[in-house]
Amino acid sequence: MIRVGQGIDVHAFDETRPLTLGGIRISDTGGLAGHSDADAVLHAITDALLGAAGAGDIGQYFPSDDARWKDADSALFLREAKRVVDEMDADIANVDVTIIAEKPKLAPFRDAIQASIARLLDLPAGHVNVKATTTDHLGFIGRGEGICAMAITCISL
Ligand code: MG
Repeated sequence: MIRVGQGIDVHAFDETRPLTLGGIRISDTGGLAGHSDADAVLHAITDALLGAAGAGDIGQYFPSDDARWKDADSALFLREAKRVVDEMDADIANVDVTIIAEKPKLAPFRDAIQASIARLLDLPAGHVNVKATTTDHLGFIGRGEGICAMAITCISL
């Protein structure tokens, strides 16, 4: 049997914070607002995995009003979702991510983000794909107000 899950996350920019996407520190400023480290990429993948597992969403596991997750490394969230999938005796077949951002240019970080996600999920590099795009200056992303990440995953059991 295979099961598919999808996840989406949006965070607004907070210029004072570091920008971390997919577990990779992109820059020391120009980051995202949020309770945790605001890694929208890892949040979207976490939700995709929980979706595939039929196990709810990231907010149920890590409420944003819980002080324990203040400035938390989102790798923790992803590892917990992986644990849920592992407990089902399921294997992650693939993870595909789209990052939608007008800035910064993410192409130079794509390979590193891909490798980081694969490492966090104990997957061979070829099981993770990361894409980056813009909205051609349209909407809140196009105006540079925030970043959106979307993820889809397939698990087999
Ligand atoms: Mg989030």
